Amino acid sequence: MPIIRAQSSPDYVPDSKFYKVEAIVRSWRVPLVSSALLKMGIRGVTVSDVRGFGAQGGSPERQGGSEFSEDNFVAKVKMEIVVSKDQVEAVMEEIIKEARTGEIGDGKIFVVPVSDVIRIRTGERGEKAERMTGGRADMSATARPVEGLN
Ligand code: ATP
Ligand code: GLN
Repeated sequence: MPIIRAQSSPDYVPDSKFYKVEAIVRSWRVPLVSSALLKMGIRGVTVSDVRGFGAQGGSPERQGGSEFSEDNFVAKVKMEIVVSKDQVEAVMEEIIKEARTGEIGDGKIFVVPVSDVIRIRTGERGEKAERMTGGRADMSATARPVEGLN
């Protein structure tokens, strides 16, 4: 299967320090996406079971002469991942790599600016609140050579 990348880097407007990557994907692809995200140091992810309609449609059922019924909604999973601006592209690429089958129904990704992040337990805001244990800062710290050994 060819690697598909998001086509061109968007010029994000409005500019923001943080973005929410909101991906609507096939339920059975979620474990693949989440383990790929974990490997790249993404520790904060929210998932919800959702239903919707798009190109895939659903199985239409006639009800009172109308084809628009609950059955037109297809079950999917929404993954919401808030990350720093410079992580957005990598997260999107990873989602596309793991969620894509090439068939109609693979889903969509929305990128939404986030104005602030607050850690409820500590009251921290912004970068401090967005940073996760085991995330990028910790990964680069463990990858750094120990002083005095080089
Ligand atoms: P702490 O007080 O250390 O922050 P906590 O349990 O209150 O711990 P987290 O475990 O970091 O907070 O997050 C709580 C929930 O918020 C997670 O289960 C997840 O659903 C969501 N979440 C956290 N960070 C993110 C993120 N960056 N993107 C999306 N969802 C997140
Ligand atoms: N940006 C955070 C970090 O590098 C990770 C955010 C997340 O896990 N969603 O620690």
